[in-house]
Amino acid sequence: MESTDIQTDHFIDHIIKDDLEQRKNQGKVITRFPPEPNGYLHIGHAKSIVLNFGTAAKYQGTCNLRFDDTNPEKENTEFELSIKEDVEWLGYKWDSLHYSSDYFQQLHDFAVTLIKDGKAYVDSLTADAMREYRGTLTQPGKESPDRSHSIEHNLALFKQMKNGDFKDGERVLRAKIDMASSNINLRDPVIYRVKHSQHHRTGSDWCIYPMYDYTHCISDALENITHSLCTLEFEDHRPLYDWVLDQLPIPTHPQQIEFARLNLEYTIMSKRKLAQLVQEGHVSGWDDARMPTISGMRRRGYPAAAIREFCERIGVTKKDATIEMGVLENLIREDLNTNAYRAMAILDPLKVTIANYPEGKTEMVDAKNHPQNPDWGTREIPFSKILYIEKSDFMEDAPKKFFRLSQGREVRFKYGYYLTCTDIVKNDEGEIIEVICTYDPETRGGRSEDGRKIKGTIHWVSAEHAIDTDIDCYDRLFNVENPGTDGEDFLQQINPKSLITLKHCKLEPMLKDAPINQVYQFERMGYFCKDKDGNFNRTMTLRDSWAKQK
Ligand code: ATP
Ligand code: MG
Repeated sequence: MESTDIQTDHFIDHIIKDDLEQRKNQGKVITRFPPEPNGYLHIGHAKSIVLNFGTAAKYQGTCNLRFDDTNPEKENTEFELSIKEDVEWLGYKWDSLHYSSDYFQQLHDFAVTLIKDGKAYVDSLTADAMREYRGTLTQPGKESPDRSHSIEHNLALFKQMKNGDFKDGERVLRAKIDMASSNINLRDPVIYRVKHSQHHRTGSDWCIYPMYDYTHCISDALENITHSLCTLEFEDHRPLYDWVLDQLPIPTHPQQIEFARLNLEYTIMSKRKLAQLVQEGHVSGWDDARMPTISGMRRRGYPAAAIREFCERIGVTKKDATIEMGVLENLIREDLNTNAYRAMAILDPLKVTIANYPEGKTEMVDAKNHPQNPDWGTREIPFSKILYIEKSDFMEDAPKKFFRLSQGREVRFKYGYYLTCTDIVKNDEGEIIEVICTYDPETRGGRSEDGRKIKGTIHWVSAEHAIDTDIDCYDRLFNVENPGTDGEDFLQQINPKSLITLKHCKLEPMLKDAPINQVYQFERMGYFCKDKDGNFNRTMTLRDSWAKQK
Protein backbone atom coordinates (compact mmCIF):
# COMPACT_ATOMS: atom_id res chain seq x y z
CA MET A 1 0.00 0.00 0.00
CA GLU A 2 1.14 3.51 -0.76
CA SER A 3 1.51 6.30 1.76
CA THR A 4 -2.02 6.70 3.01
CA ASP A 5 -1.35 7.03 6.71
CA ILE A 6 -4.01 9.14 8.29
CA GLN A 7 -2.20 12.11 9.71
CA THR A 8 -4.34 13.29 12.58
CA ASP A 9 -6.27 11.30 15.13
CA HIS A 10 -10.05 11.31 15.03
CA PHE A 11 -12.61 9.83 17.40
CA ILE A 12 -12.26 6.34 15.95
CA ASP A 13 -8.50 6.47 16.58
CA HIS A 14 -9.23 7.33 20.17
CA ILE A 15 -11.52 4.32 20.55
CA ILE A 16 -8.98 2.00 18.93
CA LYS A 17 -6.09 3.32 20.98
CA ASP A 18 -8.06 2.74 24.18
CA ASP A 19 -8.90 -0.77 23.03
CA LEU A 20 -5.27 -1.49 22.26
CA GLU A 21 -4.20 -0.18 25.63
CA GLN A 22 -6.65 -2.51 27.33
CA ARG A 23 -5.54 -5.41 25.12
CA LYS A 24 -9.09 -5.80 23.87
CA ASN A 25 -9.31 -8.24 20.90
CA GLN A 26 -5.82 -9.53 21.85
CA GLY A 27 -4.48 -6.23 20.62
CA LYS A 28 -5.68 -6.80 17.07
CA VAL A 29 -7.38 -4.43 14.67
CA ILE A 30 -9.40 -6.04 11.90
CA THR A 31 -11.68 -3.93 9.70
CA ARG A 32 -13.65 -4.57 6.53
CA PHE A 33 -15.06 -2.68 3.60
CA PRO A 34 -18.50 -4.18 2.86
CA PRO A 35 -19.95 -2.94 -0.45
CA GLU A 36 -23.11 -4.31 -1.94
CA PRO A 37 -22.35 -5.22 -5.58
CA ASN A 38 -25.40 -3.33 -6.85
CA GLY A 39 -23.59 -0.41 -8.48
CA TYR A 40 -20.20 1.16 -9.00
CA LEU A 41 -18.31 2.72 -6.11
CA HIS A 42 -18.45 6.49 -5.66
CA ILE A 43 -16.36 9.06 -3.83
CA GLY A 44 -18.41 8.44 -0.66
CA HIS A 45 -17.30 4.83 -0.73
CA ALA A 46 -13.74 6.10 -1.14
CA LYS A 47 -14.08 7.75 2.26
CA SER A 48 -15.08 4.42 3.77
CA ILE A 49 -12.28 2.60 1.90
CA VAL A 50 -9.62 5.05 3.04
CA LEU A 51 -10.94 4.86 6.60
CA ASN A 52 -11.14 1.07 6.78
CA PHE A 53 -7.93 0.22 4.93
CA GLY A 54 -6.11 3.22 6.38
CA THR A 55 -7.08 2.33 9.94
CA ALA A 56 -5.94 -1.27 9.49
CA ALA A 57 -2.61 -0.09 8.10
CA LYS A 58 -2.14 2.45 10.84
CA TYR A 59 -2.47 -0.16 13.60
CA GLN A 60 -0.69 -3.02 11.81
CA GLY A 61 -4.04 -4.70 11.40
CA THR A 62 -5.84 -6.24 8.46
CA CYS A 63 -8.78 -5.22 6.32
CA ASN A 64 -11.14 -7.51 4.41
CA LEU A 65 -13.13 -6.82 1.32
CA ARG A 66 -16.55 -8.32 1.78
CA PHE A 67 -19.27 -8.30 -0.82
CA ASP A 68 -22.54 -7.86 0.96
CA ASP A 69 -24.50 -9.85 -1.60
CA THR A 70 -27.79 -10.80 -0.01
CA ASN A 71 -30.12 -9.13 -2.49
CA PRO A 72 -29.86 -11.21 -5.68
CA GLU A 73 -32.13 -9.08 -7.84
CA LYS A 74 -29.91 -6.02 -7.85
CA GLU A 75 -26.45 -7.54 -7.70
CA ASN A 76 -24.19 -8.87 -10.41
CA THR A 77 -20.67 -9.82 -11.37
CA GLU A 78 -20.02 -6.67 -13.41
CA PHE A 79 -20.47 -4.59 -10.26
CA GLU A 80 -18.31 -6.97 -8.28
CA LEU A 81 -15.43 -6.72 -10.76
CA SER A 82 -15.67 -2.95 -10.95
CA ILE A 83 -15.52 -2.70 -7.15
CA LYS A 84 -12.37 -4.81 -6.98
CA GLU A 85 -10.76 -2.76 -9.73
CA ASP A 86 -11.61 0.50 -7.99
CA VAL A 87 -10.33 -0.56 -4.58
CA GLU A 88 -7.05 -1.69 -6.15
CA TRP A 89 -6.75 1.46 -8.22
CA LEU A 90 -7.17 3.53 -5.08
CA GLY A 91 -4.02 1.79 -3.86
CA TYR A 92 -5.32 -0.85 -1.46
CA LYS A 93 -5.00 -4.60 -1.12
CA TRP A 94 -7.52 -6.55 0.89
CA ASP A 95 -6.07 -9.11 3.25
CA SER A 96 -8.84 -11.52 2.41
CA LEU A 97 -11.87 -11.56 0.19
CA HIS A 98 -15.29 -12.62 1.46
CA TYR A 99 -18.90 -12.77 0.40
CA SER A 100 -21.92 -12.70 2.65
CA SER A 101 -23.24 -15.41 0.36
CA ASP A 102 -20.42 -17.69 1.57
CA TYR A 103 -22.18 -17.61 4.93
CA PHE A 104 -25.66 -18.51 3.70
CA GLN A 105 -25.52 -21.96 5.29
CA GLN A 106 -24.23 -20.63 8.61
CA LEU A 107 -26.72 -17.78 8.57
CA HIS A 108 -29.48 -20.30 8.01
CA ASP A 109 -28.26 -22.53 10.80
CA PHE A 110 -28.06 -19.59 13.19
CA ALA A 111 -31.64 -18.73 12.29
CA VAL A 112 -32.63 -22.27 13.23
CA THR A 113 -30.80 -21.76 16.53
CA LEU A 114 -32.80 -18.61 17.16
CA ILE A 115 -36.06 -20.43 16.43
CA LYS A 116 -35.09 -23.30 18.72
CA ASP A 117 -34.37 -20.81 21.48
CA GLY A 118 -37.77 -19.22 20.99
CA LYS A 119 -36.18 -16.06 19.62
CA ALA A 120 -37.51 -16.09 16.09
CA TYR A 121 -40.80 -16.98 14.43
CA VAL A 122 -42.32 -17.33 11.00
CA ASP A 123 -44.90 -14.69 10.24
CA SER A 124 -47.64 -14.70 7.62
CA LEU A 125 -48.67 -11.05 7.90
CA THR A 126 -48.68 -9.23 4.58
CA ALA A 127 -46.14 -6.45 4.13
CA ASP A 128 -48.91 -3.87 4.56
CA ALA A 129 -50.24 -5.46 7.71
CA MET A 130 -46.76 -5.73 9.11
CA ARG A 131 -46.19 -2.03 8.57
CA GLU A 132 -49.43 -1.26 10.35
CA TYR A 133 -48.57 -3.57 13.26
CA ARG A 134 -45.16 -1.99 13.62
CA GLY A 135 -46.54 1.14 15.26
CA THR A 136 -44.95 4.58 15.07
CA LEU A 137 -42.33 6.60 16.87
CA THR A 138 -44.94 7.61 19.43
CA GLN A 139 -47.03 4.43 19.52
CA PRO A 140 -45.91 0.91 20.40
CA GLY A 141 -46.36 -1.86 17.86
CA LYS A 142 -48.84 -4.74 18.01
CA GLU A 143 -47.87 -8.39 18.21
CA SER A 144 -48.61 -10.54 15.20
CA PRO A 145 -50.98 -13.47 15.82
CA ASP A 146 -48.18 -15.76 14.57
CA ARG A 147 -45.84 -14.59 17.30
CA SER A 148 -47.18 -17.19 19.75
CA HIS A 149 -46.71 -20.23 17.52
CA SER A 150 -44.77 -23.11 19.03
CA ILE A 151 -41.10 -23.66 18.34
CA GLU A 152 -41.89 -26.90 16.48
CA HIS A 153 -44.39 -25.14 14.26
CA ASN A 154 -41.88 -22.38 13.48
CA LEU A 155 -39.14 -24.89 12.68
CA ALA A 156 -41.47 -26.69 10.30
CA LEU A 157 -42.55 -23.44 8.62
CA PHE A 158 -38.99 -22.17 8.23
CA LYS A 159 -38.08 -25.47 6.63
CA GLN A 160 -40.99 -25.01 4.23
CA MET A 161 -39.77 -21.49 3.46
CA LYS A 162 -36.34 -22.91 2.67
CA ASN A 163 -37.78 -25.71 0.56
CA GLY A 164 -39.67 -23.31 -1.65
CA ASP A 165 -43.18 -24.09 -0.42
CA PHE A 166 -44.03 -20.39 -0.22
CA LYS A 167 -44.16 -17.64 -2.80
CA ASP A 168 -42.24 -14.39 -2.43
CA GLY A 169 -43.73 -12.39 0.40
CA GLU A 170 -45.96 -15.13 1.79
CA ARG A 171 -43.85 -15.75 4.87
CA VAL A 172 -40.94 -14.09 6.63
CA LEU A 173 -38.79 -15.06 9.57
CA ARG A 174 -38.76 -12.42 12.30
CA ALA A 175 -36.62 -12.00 15.37
CA LYS A 176 -38.73 -12.06 18.52
CA ILE A 177 -37.54 -9.04 20.42
CA ASP A 178 -39.98 -6.40 21.61
CA MET A 179 -42.95 -4.92 19.77
CA ALA A 180 -43.10 -2.12 22.33
CA SER A 181 -39.46 -1.10 22.06
CA SER A 182 -38.86 2.62 21.67
CA ASN A 183 -36.43 1.64 18.90
CA ILE A 184 -38.48 0.58 15.91
CA ASN A 185 -35.61 -1.54 14.64
CA LEU A 186 -36.15 -3.84 17.61
CA ARG A 187 -39.85 -4.40 16.94
CA ASP A 188 -39.44 -7.95 15.70
CA PRO A 189 -37.40 -7.13 12.57
CA VAL A 190 -37.58 -9.44 9.58
CA ILE A 191 -34.40 -11.49 9.30
CA TYR A 192 -35.29 -13.81 6.37
CA ARG A 193 -37.55 -13.42 3.39
CA VAL A 194 -38.62 -15.65 0.54
CA LYS A 195 -37.19 -14.66 -2.81
CA HIS A 196 -37.27 -17.01 -5.75
CA SER A 197 -34.35 -15.36 -7.53
CA GLN A 198 -31.15 -16.58 -9.07
CA HIS A 199 -28.15 -15.36 -7.11
CA HIS A 200 -25.06 -14.44 -9.15
CA ARG A 201 -22.91 -16.68 -6.98
CA THR A 202 -25.17 -19.30 -5.40
CA GLY A 203 -27.50 -19.76 -8.36
CA SER A 204 -30.74 -21.42 -7.29
CA ASP A 205 -29.37 -22.99 -4.13
CA TRP A 206 -31.51 -20.72 -1.99
CA CYS A 207 -34.96 -19.24 -2.22
CA ILE A 208 -34.72 -17.54 1.16
CA TYR A 209 -32.31 -14.68 1.70
CA PRO A 210 -31.15 -13.09 4.98
CA MET A 211 -31.73 -9.40 5.65
CA TYR A 212 -28.92 -6.86 5.91
CA ASP A 213 -29.07 -6.23 9.67
CA TYR A 214 -29.02 -9.92 10.46
CA THR A 215 -26.31 -10.75 7.92
CA HIS A 216 -23.93 -7.92 8.58
CA CYS A 217 -23.24 -8.47 12.25
CA ILE A 218 -22.85 -12.24 11.84
CA SER A 219 -20.52 -11.80 8.84
CA ASP A 220 -18.44 -9.34 10.86
CA ALA A 221 -18.25 -11.75 13.77
CA LEU A 222 -17.37 -14.75 11.60
CA GLU A 223 -14.47 -12.76 10.17
CA ASN A 224 -13.31 -11.67 13.61
CA ILE A 225 -13.76 -8.04 12.71
CA THR A 226 -12.85 -5.92 15.71
CA HIS A 227 -14.17 -2.52 14.64
CA SER A 228 -17.11 -2.44 12.26
CA LEU A 229 -17.13 1.08 10.85
CA CYS A 230 -20.32 2.21 9.17
CA THR A 231 -22.22 5.37 8.39
CA LEU A 232 -24.44 7.24 10.83
CA GLU A 233 -27.77 5.99 9.54
CA PHE A 234 -26.94 2.66 11.17
CA GLU A 235 -26.67 4.14 14.64
CA ASP A 236 -30.26 3.15 15.45
CA HIS A 237 -29.56 -0.34 14.15
CA ARG A 238 -26.69 -0.92 16.56
CA PRO A 239 -28.95 -2.37 19.31
CA LEU A 240 -30.12 -4.95 16.77
CA TYR A 241 -26.53 -5.67 15.69
CA ASP A 242 -25.69 -6.33 19.32
CA TRP A 243 -28.89 -8.26 20.05
CA VAL A 244 -28.32 -10.77 17.25
CA LEU A 245 -24.74 -11.44 18.32
CA ASP A 246 -25.73 -11.73 21.97
CA GLN A 247 -28.19 -14.51 21.17
CA LEU A 248 -25.82 -16.64 19.13
CA PRO A 249 -22.93 -18.94 20.02
CA ILE A 250 -20.31 -16.89 18.20
CA PRO A 251 -17.21 -16.15 20.28
CA THR A 252 -16.48 -12.67 18.94
CA HIS A 253 -18.54 -9.52 19.15
CA PRO A 254 -17.30 -6.71 16.91
CA GLN A 255 -17.92 -3.13 17.93
CA GLN A 256 -20.02 -1.12 15.49
CA ILE A 257 -18.88 2.50 15.26
CA GLU A 258 -20.72 5.03 13.14
CA PHE A 259 -19.24 8.03 11.30
CA ALA A 260 -20.75 10.73 9.10
CA ARG A 261 -21.08 9.91 5.44
CA LEU A 262 -19.51 12.08 2.79
CA ASN A 263 -21.82 14.43 0.95
CA LEU A 264 -20.42 16.56 -1.83
CA GLU A 265 -21.90 19.67 -3.42
CA TYR A 266 -23.01 19.70 -7.07
CA THR A 267 -23.32 15.93 -7.19
CA ILE A 268 -25.25 13.03 -5.70
CA MET A 269 -24.18 9.95 -3.74
CA SER A 270 -27.31 7.89 -3.91
CA LYS A 271 -26.63 4.66 -5.80
CA ARG A 272 -30.26 4.52 -6.80
CA LYS A 273 -30.09 7.94 -8.45
CA LEU A 274 -26.71 7.23 -10.03
CA ALA A 275 -28.18 4.04 -11.49
CA GLN A 276 -31.08 6.09 -12.85
CA LEU A 277 -28.68 8.49 -14.59
CA VAL A 278 -27.04 5.50 -16.26
CA GLN A 279 -30.20 3.58 -17.12
CA GLU A 280 -31.99 6.58 -18.59
CA GLY A 281 -28.96 7.62 -20.61
CA HIS A 282 -28.33 11.00 -18.98
CA VAL A 283 -24.68 9.94 -18.84
CA SER A 284 -22.74 7.47 -20.98
CA GLY A 285 -22.31 4.92 -18.20
CA TRP A 286 -21.19 4.44 -14.60
CA ASP A 287 -17.73 5.56 -15.68
CA ASP A 288 -18.88 8.71 -17.48
CA ALA A 289 -16.24 11.28 -16.59
CA ARG A 290 -18.87 13.50 -14.92
CA MET A 291 -20.02 10.81 -12.50
CA PRO A 292 -18.89 10.96 -8.86
CA THR A 293 -17.87 7.31 -9.24
CA ILE A 294 -14.30 6.16 -8.72
CA SER A 295 -14.26 4.82 -12.28
CA GLY A 296 -15.62 8.11 -13.64
CA MET A 297 -12.97 10.07 -11.78
CA ARG A 298 -10.25 7.72 -13.00
CA ARG A 299 -11.46 8.18 -16.55
CA ARG A 300 -11.58 11.91 -16.09
CA GLY A 301 -7.94 11.82 -15.01
CA TYR A 302 -8.20 12.36 -11.25
CA PRO A 303 -5.14 10.85 -9.56
CA ALA A 304 -5.82 8.16 -6.95
CA ALA A 305 -3.43 9.87 -4.54
CA ALA A 306 -5.43 13.10 -4.68
CA ILE A 307 -8.66 11.22 -3.95
CA ARG A 308 -7.03 9.56 -0.95
CA GLU A 309 -5.68 12.90 0.18
CA PHE A 310 -9.17 14.37 -0.08
CA CYS A 311 -10.65 11.56 2.02
CA GLU A 312 -8.08 12.16 4.70
CA ARG A 313 -8.37 15.94 4.71
CA ILE A 314 -12.15 15.98 5.17
CA GLY A 315 -11.73 13.99 8.36
CA VAL A 316 -13.92 11.55 10.22
CA THR A 317 -16.62 12.91 12.51
CA LYS A 318 -20.07 12.17 13.91
CA LYS A 319 -21.63 15.20 12.26
CA ASP A 320 -23.18 15.19 8.82
CA ALA A 321 -21.84 17.88 6.53
CA THR A 322 -21.64 18.65 2.85
CA ILE A 323 -18.19 19.28 1.47
CA GLU A 324 -17.63 21.96 -1.18
CA MET A 325 -16.77 20.54 -4.58
CA GLY A 326 -13.94 23.10 -4.76
CA VAL A 327 -12.12 21.26 -1.97
CA LEU A 328 -11.83 18.12 -4.10
CA GLU A 329 -11.11 20.02 -7.31
CA ASN A 330 -8.35 22.08 -5.76
CA LEU A 331 -6.63 18.97 -4.44
CA ILE A 332 -6.78 17.50 -7.93
CA ARG A 333 -5.25 20.71 -9.33
CA GLU A 334 -2.50 20.75 -6.71
CA ASP A 335 -1.58 17.17 -7.45
CA LEU A 336 -1.60 17.64 -11.21
CA ASN A 337 0.32 20.90 -11.08
CA THR A 338 3.16 18.97 -9.45
CA ASN A 339 2.80 15.68 -11.29
CA ALA A 340 1.54 16.37 -14.81
CA TYR A 341 3.83 16.68 -17.82
CA ARG A 342 3.46 19.86 -19.80
CA ALA A 343 2.38 19.84 -23.42
CA MET A 344 1.24 22.30 -26.07
CA ALA A 345 -2.25 22.14 -27.49
CA ILE A 346 -4.62 24.53 -29.20
CA LEU A 347 -8.29 24.12 -28.38
CA ASP A 348 -9.71 26.81 -30.66
CA PRO A 349 -7.23 27.13 -33.54
CA LEU A 350 -6.34 30.25 -35.52
CA LYS A 351 -3.85 29.89 -38.38
CA VAL A 352 -0.61 31.86 -38.26
CA THR A 353 1.62 32.11 -41.32
CA ILE A 354 5.19 33.34 -40.94
CA ALA A 355 5.90 35.29 -44.11
CA ASN A 356 9.69 35.28 -43.78
CA TYR A 357 10.09 31.66 -42.68
CA PRO A 358 11.41 29.26 -45.36
CA GLU A 359 8.80 27.18 -47.14
CA GLY A 360 8.94 23.47 -46.27
CA LYS A 361 11.39 23.88 -43.40
CA THR A 362 10.83 22.22 -40.01
CA GLU A 363 13.09 22.77 -37.06
CA MET A 364 12.93 21.13 -33.67
CA VAL A 365 12.96 23.35 -30.59
CA ASP A 366 13.37 22.29 -26.97
CA ALA A 367 10.39 22.46 -24.61
CA LYS A 368 10.47 21.82 -20.87
CA ASN A 369 8.47 18.88 -19.61
CA HIS A 370 7.89 20.62 -16.29
CA PRO A 371 8.65 24.24 -15.41
CA GLN A 372 9.81 23.56 -11.84
CA ASN A 373 11.23 20.11 -12.29
CA PRO A 374 14.40 20.10 -14.42
CA ASP A 375 14.85 16.37 -13.78
CA TRP A 376 12.00 15.72 -16.14
CA GLY A 377 14.07 17.14 -18.97
CA THR A 378 12.96 18.54 -22.28
CA ARG A 379 11.41 17.26 -25.46
CA GLU A 380 11.68 18.49 -29.03
CA ILE A 381 8.70 20.04 -30.73
CA PRO A 382 8.47 20.98 -34.40
CA PHE A 383 8.33 24.62 -35.51
CA SER A 384 7.43 25.52 -39.10
CA LYS A 385 6.01 28.19 -41.36
CA ILE A 386 2.36 27.58 -40.51
CA LEU A 387 1.32 27.39 -36.88
CA TYR A 388 -1.87 27.41 -34.84
CA ILE A 389 -2.53 29.64 -31.88
CA GLU A 390 -5.65 30.09 -29.73
CA LYS A 391 -8.20 32.41 -31.24
CA SER A 392 -8.35 34.18 -27.92
CA ASP A 393 -4.64 34.99 -28.19
CA PHE A 394 -5.28 37.38 -31.06
CA MET A 395 -7.23 40.61 -31.01
CA GLU A 396 -7.68 43.18 -33.72
CA ASP A 397 -7.11 46.75 -32.53
CA ALA A 398 -6.31 45.46 -29.06
CA PRO A 399 -6.12 47.73 -26.01
CA LYS A 400 -2.68 48.46 -24.61
CA LYS A 401 -2.99 45.92 -21.80
CA PHE A 402 -3.66 43.01 -24.16
CA PHE A 403 -0.30 41.24 -23.91
CA ARG A 404 -0.96 38.80 -26.69
CA LEU A 405 -0.89 39.04 -30.45
CA SER A 406 -2.28 42.03 -32.35
CA GLN A 407 -1.28 43.97 -35.45
CA GLY A 408 2.17 45.52 -35.09
CA ARG A 409 2.89 43.79 -31.78
CA GLU A 410 5.66 41.36 -31.01
CA VAL A 411 5.09 38.37 -28.71
CA ARG A 412 7.07 35.34 -27.66
CA PHE A 413 5.97 32.03 -29.09
CA LYS A 414 7.06 29.93 -26.15
CA TYR A 415 10.22 27.87 -26.89
CA GLY A 416 10.00 29.11 -30.51
CA TYR A 417 10.73 32.65 -31.69
CA TYR A 418 9.54 36.22 -31.31
CA LEU A 419 6.84 36.92 -33.86
CA THR A 420 5.36 40.23 -34.96
CA CYS A 421 1.95 40.44 -36.57
CA THR A 422 2.00 42.31 -39.85
CA ASP A 423 -1.37 41.54 -41.36
CA ILE A 424 -4.66 39.68 -40.99
CA VAL A 425 -6.89 37.80 -43.41
CA LYS A 426 -10.68 37.84 -43.02
CA ASN A 427 -13.39 35.76 -44.63
CA ASP A 428 -16.57 37.16 -46.21
CA GLU A 429 -18.27 37.33 -42.81
CA GLY A 430 -15.48 39.53 -41.52
CA GLU A 431 -14.10 36.84 -39.27
CA ILE A 432 -10.34 36.65 -38.91
CA ILE A 433 -9.18 33.37 -40.41
CA GLU A 434 -5.45 33.91 -40.63
CA VAL A 435 -2.77 36.03 -39.05
CA ILE A 436 0.36 36.93 -40.98
CA CYS A 437 3.56 37.42 -39.00
CA THR A 438 7.27 37.81 -39.41
CA TYR A 439 9.74 36.14 -37.09
CA ASP A 440 13.12 37.26 -35.78
CA PRO A 441 15.64 34.46 -36.53
CA GLU A 442 17.86 35.83 -33.70
CA THR A 443 15.33 34.79 -31.06
CA ARG A 444 15.42 31.01 -31.34
CA GLY A 445 14.18 29.28 -28.19
CA GLY A 446 12.04 32.30 -27.41
CA ARG A 447 15.00 34.34 -26.13
CA SER A 448 16.71 37.41 -27.50
CA GLU A 449 20.40 38.28 -27.12
CA ASP A 450 19.74 42.01 -27.08
CA GLY A 451 17.58 41.67 -23.99
CA ARG A 452 14.59 43.48 -25.42
CA LYS A 453 11.51 43.16 -23.28
CA ILE A 454 8.57 41.10 -24.43
CA LYS A 455 5.41 41.19 -22.35
CA GLY A 456 3.39 38.44 -23.96
CA THR A 457 4.12 34.72 -24.24
CA ILE A 458 1.70 32.45 -26.02
CA HIS A 459 1.61 28.76 -26.93
CA TRP A 460 1.31 27.28 -30.41
CA VAL A 461 1.59 24.08 -32.41
CA SER A 462 2.95 23.44 -35.89
CA ALA A 463 0.02 22.97 -38.27
CA GLU A 464 1.62 20.31 -40.42
CA HIS A 465 2.66 18.18 -37.44
CA ALA A 466 -0.32 18.65 -35.16
CA ILE A 467 -2.65 15.85 -34.15
CA ASP A 468 -6.25 16.67 -34.87
CA THR A 469 -8.56 15.51 -32.10
CA ASP A 470 -11.81 16.24 -30.30
CA ILE A 471 -11.72 17.21 -26.65
CA ASP A 472 -14.53 16.51 -24.21
CA CYS A 473 -14.68 19.36 -21.74
CA TYR A 474 -16.34 18.17 -18.57
CA ASP A 475 -17.78 20.29 -15.87
CA ARG A 476 -19.90 19.68 -12.78
CA LEU A 477 -22.79 17.35 -13.52
CA PHE A 478 -25.34 19.49 -11.69
CA ASN A 479 -25.68 23.23 -11.57
CA VAL A 480 -27.04 23.43 -8.03
CA GLU A 481 -25.24 22.71 -4.78
CA ASN A 482 -27.68 20.10 -3.47
CA PRO A 483 -29.41 18.39 -6.38
CA GLY A 484 -32.71 16.70 -5.65
CA THR A 485 -33.45 18.58 -2.42
CA ASP A 486 -36.28 21.01 -1.62
CA GLY A 487 -38.70 18.96 -3.68
CA GLU A 488 -36.74 19.49 -6.90
CA ASP A 489 -36.24 16.75 -9.47
CA PHE A 490 -32.50 16.11 -9.68
CA LEU A 491 -32.80 15.26 -13.38
CA GLN A 492 -33.98 18.80 -14.07
CA GLN A 493 -30.86 20.13 -12.39
CA ILE A 494 -28.32 18.49 -14.67
CA ASN A 495 -25.85 21.10 -15.89
CA PRO A 496 -26.47 21.39 -19.66
CA LYS A 497 -22.86 22.52 -20.06
CA SER A 498 -21.44 19.57 -18.15
CA LEU A 499 -20.12 18.15 -21.42
CA ILE A 500 -19.00 20.31 -24.31
CA THR A 501 -17.04 18.65 -27.08
CA LEU A 502 -14.52 20.83 -28.86
CA LYS A 503 -13.96 19.67 -32.42
CA HIS A 504 -10.65 19.68 -34.31
CA CYS A 505 -8.33 20.70 -31.56
CA LYS A 506 -4.63 20.66 -32.45
CA LEU A 507 -2.14 18.87 -30.23
CA GLU A 508 1.64 18.64 -30.35
CA PRO A 509 2.75 15.36 -32.00
CA MET A 510 4.15 13.74 -28.82
CA LEU A 511 0.58 13.36 -27.58
CA LYS A 512 -0.13 10.76 -30.24
CA ASP A 513 1.48 8.25 -27.89
CA ALA A 514 -0.10 9.56 -24.71
CA PRO A 515 -1.06 6.61 -22.51
CA ILE A 516 -4.77 6.45 -21.75
CA ASN A 517 -5.65 8.34 -18.55
CA GLN A 518 -2.23 9.95 -18.20
CA VAL A 519 -2.83 13.59 -17.47
CA TYR A 520 -0.89 16.43 -19.13
CA GLN A 521 -1.09 20.10 -18.46
CA PHE A 522 -1.82 21.73 -21.79
CA GLU A 523 0.04 24.96 -21.13
CA ARG A 524 -2.28 27.82 -20.19
CA MET A 525 -5.37 25.67 -20.95
CA GLY A 526 -5.82 23.13 -18.15
CA TYR A 527 -5.32 19.44 -17.49
CA PHE A 528 -6.23 16.81 -20.06
CA CYS A 529 -5.88 13.10 -20.64
CA LYS A 530 -6.56 10.70 -23.44
CA ASP A 531 -9.76 8.74 -23.08
CA LYS A 532 -10.22 5.09 -23.99
CA ASP A 533 -12.65 6.25 -26.70
CA GLY A 534 -9.88 8.17 -28.50
CA ASN A 535 -10.94 11.72 -27.62
CA PHE A 536 -9.13 13.70 -24.99
CA ASN A 537 -10.88 14.57 -21.73
CA ARG A 538 -10.50 17.82 -19.90
CA THR A 539 -9.70 16.69 -16.38
CA MET A 540 -9.75 20.13 -14.81
CA THR A 541 -9.45 23.79 -15.64
CA LEU A 542 -6.41 25.64 -14.32
CA ARG A 543 -8.53 27.82 -12.07
CA ASP A 544 -11.83 27.42 -10.27
CA SER A 545 -14.38 29.21 -12.43
CA TRP A 546 -17.27 28.34 -10.08
CA ALA A 547 -15.74 30.19 -7.15
CA LYS A 548 -16.02 33.43 -9.14
CA GLN A 549 -19.68 32.78 -9.97
CA LYS A 550 -20.50 32.25 -6.30
P1 ATP B 1 -27.10 1.19 -0.57
O1 ATP B 1 -26.93 0.50 0.75
O2 ATP B 1 -28.24 2.12 -0.66
O3 ATP B 1 -26.96 0.30 -1.75
P2 ATP B 1 -24.55 2.37 0.05
O4 ATP B 1 -24.01 3.59 -0.58
O5 ATP B 1 -24.72 2.29 1.51
O6 ATP B 1 -25.90 2.18 -0.71
P3 ATP B 1 -22.91 0.01 0.20
O7 ATP B 1 -22.40 -0.79 -0.90
O8 ATP B 1 -23.75 -0.66 1.21
O9 ATP B 1 -23.71 1.17 -0.47
O10 ATP B 1 -21.72 0.77 0.91
C1 ATP B 1 -20.53 0.13 1.30
C2 ATP B 1 -19.89 0.87 2.44
O11 ATP B 1 -19.60 2.21 2.06
C3 ATP B 1 -20.81 0.94 3.62
O12 ATP B 1 -20.06 0.63 4.79
C4 ATP B 1 -21.27 2.35 3.65
O13 ATP B 1 -21.53 2.79 4.96
C5 ATP B 1 -20.12 3.11 3.01
N1 ATP B 1 -20.60 4.32 2.35
C6 ATP B 1 -21.56 4.41 1.41
N2 ATP B 1 -21.79 5.69 1.08
C7 ATP B 1 -20.94 6.44 1.81
C8 ATP B 1 -20.70 7.86 1.92
N3 ATP B 1 -21.36 8.75 1.19
N4 ATP B 1 -19.74 8.27 2.78
C9 ATP B 1 -19.05 7.37 3.52
N5 ATP B 1 -19.25 6.04 3.47
C10 ATP B 1 -20.18 5.57 2.63
MG1 MG C 1 -25.53 0.12 2.28
